[in-house]
Amino acid sequence: MSALLEITDLTVGYETAAGERVVLVDSVSLRLEEGEVLCLVGESGSGKSVTMLAALGLLPPALTIFDGSVKLRDELVGADDETLRRLRGAELGMVFQDPMTTLNPVRRVGTQIGRALAVHQHLDARTRKRRVVELLASVGIPQAAERARAYPHQWSGGMRQRAVIAMAMANDPAVLIADEPTTALDVTVQAQLMEVLAQARARSGAAMVLITHDLGLVAQYADRVAIMYAGRVVESGTVWQIFDDAAHPYTRGLQAGLLGQAGAGRAYAIPGSPPSPAKRTTGCGFAPRCEFAGKSGDCDTTVPPLVAALDGRALACPPALAVPLREDISA
Ligand code: ADP
Ligand code: MG
Repeated sequence: MSALLEITDLTVGYETAAGERVVLVDSVSLRLEEGEVLCLVGESGSGKSVTMLAALGLLPPALTIFDGSVKLRDELVGADDETLRRLRGAELGMVFQDPMTTLNPVRRVGTQIGRALAVHQHLDARTRKRRVVELLASVGIPQAAERARAYPHQWSGGMRQRAVIAMAMANDPAVLIADEPTTALDVTVQAQLMEVLAQARARSGAAMVLITHDLGLVAQYADRVAIMYAGRVVESGTVWQIFDDAAHPYTRGLQAGLLGQAGAGRAYAIPGSPPSPAKRTTGCGFAPRCEFAGKSGDCDTTVPPLVAALDGRALACPPALAVPLREDISA
């Protein structure tokens, strides 16, 4: 079966004044099936946002797609602006970290959601107004009819993000892209907002790419998970395969952080930091931080290919493929 959204070998970056290519996202392939939640996970700077912005045709002007394909029914790489705009409103809903990147500060919230509706649906003014109020109520805005007349700055951060979710859902999109949707919010409202988003998605049956560094959210909401490191996908699988049986040393390092394996009260952090995109070398980007580097293969000289297994997992780590690391660690 063909996927709803299929990203194949997407490579994104920029060229320096000296004509050298700096690659930020390197041969990334992702599949999103009808109705599922795919979590994209990795440290800050690993290329999660750039991957999805490239897929949506929303890259900042400095960045270019060097290679690859993005299919949402039709091919999106190289599609004209008009096609991309139409798809973004009708088939794709987007929720970014900061609601003010989506909301216009000088327009009433209700007007903005109404406009999102008007661009893609032909509704008379009364029906449109009713839909706006319904949408705001569906994301838990009390007295929605009255509140719709307010400006974004009159709303709290959590309310604004609810409005963005309402706007993303306005045209009943097939795919939702949520990039760290709760990270900028007060911790006390993060869980609530995530639940609002999850419920909106579940009601509509949309598939979702959820970008997050929060493994708790992954455990709660993901069907499948793709782990990114230094611009590449290093491991992917179902949420159970990733949580119960992760093989990539980086994935296991992230999990050690979640489980607090450093001991009571101390958060574990993988020693070292990711290589900056301009300094990425030929080998595995994780090798300098990896306690298994060199166990087999040539981690320092060859970029490990992402190898797909029969059970649907994929792994870019020859030593982990060759050695049952889990037994090594527990021995
Ligand atoms: P993530 O979302 O995983 O935290 P990003 O996708 O935002 O990471 O960034 C990936 C890499 O691309 C980072 O090293 C970042 O500094 C770089 N980057 C992002 N946007 C630009 C840009 N406009 N110009 C140059 N480099 C960029
Ligand atoms: Mg990001």
